[in-house]
Amino acid sequence: MQKQASNTTSSNKPIKKVVIAGGGTAGWMAAAALTKLLGKHLEVVLVESDQIGTVGVGEATIPTLHIFHRLLGIKEQDVMAATNATFKLGIAFENWHDVGKDYIHSFGFLGKDCWACGFQHFWLKGQQRGIVSQIGDYCTEHLAAREGRFAVLPNQDYNHAYHMDATLYAKFLRAIAEQHGITRIEGKIKEVLQHDDTGNIRGLTLESGDVIEGDLFLDCTGFRALLIEQTLNTGFDDWSHWLPCDSAIAVQTKTTEKPIPYTRSIARESGWQWRIPLQSRTGNGLVFCSKYMSDEEAKATLMDNIEGEPLTDPRVIKFRTGSRRKTWHKNCVAIGLSSGFLEPLESTSIHLIQRGIVRLLQMFPSQGLVEEDINEFNEQTRTETENIRDFIVLHYKVTDRTDSRFWRYCKNMSVPASLQHRIDMFDASGKVYKHGNELFGESSWIQVMMGQGLAPKQYHPIVDMMEDDELENFLASIKAKAKQKVANLPDHYDFVQHYCKSK
Ligand code: FAD
Repeated sequence: MQKQASNTTSSNKPIKKVVIAGGGTAGWMAAAALTKLLGKHLEVVLVESDQIGTVGVGEATIPTLHIFHRLLGIKEQDVMAATNATFKLGIAFENWHDVGKDYIHSFGFLGKDCWACGFQHFWLKGQQRGIVSQIGDYCTEHLAAREGRFAVLPNQDYNHAYHMDATLYAKFLRAIAEQHGITRIEGKIKEVLQHDDTGNIRGLTLESGDVIEGDLFLDCTGFRALLIEQTLNTGFDDWSHWLPCDSAIAVQTKTTEKPIPYTRSIARESGWQWRIPLQSRTGNGLVFCSKYMSDEEAKATLMDNIEGEPLTDPRVIKFRTGSRRKTWHKNCVAIGLSSGFLEPLESTSIHLIQRGIVRLLQMFPSQGLVEEDINEFNEQTRTETENIRDFIVLHYKVTDRTDSRFWRYCKNMSVPASLQHRIDMFDASGKVYKHGNELFGESSWIQVMMGQGLAPKQYHPIVDMMEDDELENFLASIKAKAKQKVANLPDHYDFVQHYCKSK
């Protein structure tokens, strides 16, 4: 039964027309999903401005993107071929624990499902006994990343994501949306109109003078947040005291070597550098903190540390880390950069776009706006984003680096209580837990906590139920299986070329 209107935001007016403001990754992902899945019931219009353009970065993804593609019936080979994509099995964090110390956060599971306690406890005891090698050796995806091997095989489902060209991805999604009846309007939004009584958004006035009216508006206008903030003044929780980087500089280069199946994240004096290998080129960038590094210094640092000829001019992007207080307010839902920003250290922005879209589809207000649903949407979004925030802050907080003002700040800053609790628990007992549906599971937390230098003081006593011989065989067999699986995989890039050609 439809809930009754309980205040001014709720309304029994059915949603028949959705207007998407903005055509970056967020706008076109939303457009493709809404037209494909609700197109029979909805008119969907997208407005974008070539004059303004998109943010033009956002090339590394995580495995959850498969869910979105499955929902839309997108074949992996098609999207990879269309976006010059390579596979991504994880991220190498170089110099994060300390200068010269590297680790990989892979998408795989460590060890295997263990009864009663996590694999890390077995490994920790093995470490005490001197019978283990690095923890990544017990994870197929980790090993495959290191060896540059990968394939999609019929009976083996390795956790993988992609590096892809964001502009081509938006184009690919646009074709799907157009196939399902989207109306695309080219034009610059000059004014956002509101209903006098409710304050809900009524329409968008373009520079041409045209007015586009609608029932529900998706704000996909990027950092501008034209509707959700500039018009509805929803408010923003600033998290820059935990994530002090506020700038990035990006440049694309010619590829000089075979693309590897992982992203590189290289910590620098006042931030970190990304290197994302596509089939056609490499995406590079430096995320940095303007309090400790000027744009000119950042540019010099980046240009000194790229390989291959630059294909674009270096471009500075400014941002503020944090979250919109409400991502759904009145008849406006913010998706993408308009809803807030977490720096791209774990490539989570496109995932959050996808989650926003799926959540909107699940709670779609066909029969009108319902305040309780909107509150639920906002609550779920907040919890999800805060969990990801904690995971990203972890990389900065747990470090041995003290070689610059930036790293000393990060090492000494206080962190959210929720994160401090996890760090303390792991440090004391090697225990890790996952909150409900949160994105990053135990294997991710363990890889990053250990990679950043946390060494639990104790392992779970249940491991002592195993005799030493049994433990040694158990660990050795997991490692041998991972090694064997990887040995059977082809070279990653050879497979990419074959896979894209055979689509
Ligand atoms: P934009 O791409 O900025 O699109 C905004 C749209 O709104 C454009 O079409 C623009 O023309 C339109 N618009 C704005 N104002 C108007 C107006 N007045 N009239 C008409 N149209 C208007 N995410 C990842 O998942 N992985 C990554 O590796 C990653 N790396 C990143 C690196 C950096 C440095 C940054 C800043 C972000 C990164 N992200 C990454 C985030 C990712 O780029 C974004 O989530 C993604 O591109 C979506 O952006 P968007 O569509 O919200 O905004």
